[in-house]
Amino acid sequence: MNLIDDLRFRSYSIRRRNVFRIATSASDVEDNIVVRVDAGDDFGVGNASPSDVTHETRETIERFLTASAGRIRGVAEDDLEALHDVLDSVAPGNTAAKAAIDIAVHDLLGKRCGVQIYEALGGRGDGRLVTDMTVGIEGVDETVRRAVANCRDGFRALKLKVGLDIEQDLLRVAAVREAVGSGVELRVDANQGYDVDEAIRFCEEMDTLGVALVEQPVDADDYAGLKAVRERSPVPIMADECLRTIADAERVAAEGAADIINIKLMKSGGIHPARTIDRIAKDASMTTMVGCMGEIQLSIAAGLHFALGSDNVRYVDLDSHFSMIDDPSSGLTFEDGLIGVSGRPGLGMTTDMDC
Ligand SMILES: [Mg+2]
Repeated sequence: MNLIDDLRFRSYSIRRRNVFRIATSASDVEDNIVVRVDAGDDFGVGNASPSDVTHETRETIERFLTASAGRIRGVAEDDLEALHDVLDSVAPGNTAAKAAIDIAVHDLLGKRCGVQIYEALGGRGDGRLVTDMTVGIEGVDETVRRAVANCRDGFRALKLKVGLDIEQDLLRVAAVREAVGSGVELRVDANQGYDVDEAIRFCEEMDTLGVALVEQPVDADDYAGLKAVRERSPVPIMADECLRTIADAERVAAEGAADIINIKLMKSGGIHPARTIDRIAKDASMTTMVGCMGEIQLSIAAGLHFALGSDNVRYVDLDSHFSMIDDPSSGLTFEDGLIGVSGRPGLGMTTDMDC
């Protein structure tokens, strides 16, 4: 066992191939901050992706990492509880920054033990899972064009963004279903775009189109509204923006506000707290999805290892890296709709922080 003795980071502005438009924002560039944690003669790498959801920016993440570097020095590399206690003592929140450090330490431990992270978490299987591909908010024709192109690229599941205009949304989802046929799983994410009555009407329509789930139809703060939609919706309801912390997961579970929870490492603060959220979900008979922010391959790999390591994760939405130009990390595979880890220990990824 070794003590953590160094933390360094490098920030990147990564271009997207297309502008990505959802109900709450639009962007064509994504900041990602790659972190390296050293302990003894091994190191691990992780990644932070800022977003409005966690109230983080590139600057806040850099500030948190700088403040944490000295504080985590001397923490035992295999004491994840102590690591998170120290990080929480630096500042509350800042979950994407914490996730980057948590992921790096998991990578380091995997390399140290010569095992892949998902194996260390108790997962089995061949290291591959079906991921959906997300289509942002566009006109009907462009939405259909992108959906069909994604299916041609091998994707078997699509996540359609909605929530700006319910009438347009209904047309778009119906047009995609018509174009891709019944064999492609459709998931829909409203990013808080509807009121409760709209959401219920929308979910009833989605049922007729064979949609698998509707994600965060109402405002993040409106737990009662989410529950009301869930009670009336024939389609399973997934909580995303309303659920960031372990305490949020306990609240969603206690109130019966959702059928499914969207776990993102950037919201939870990394793999270690994400496992707690997944367990809370399971105890409350909720399944989970592993989702992502605007992330490069490095932290997408961490999400995939986490998903592979849990028997309660039902859906995988790990797709942001497909849209990135000049990703500084590599190692993931994609074939026949399946996203896969590299097979090497730890995260199994390559970055330019390797020396
Ligand atoms: Mg979402």
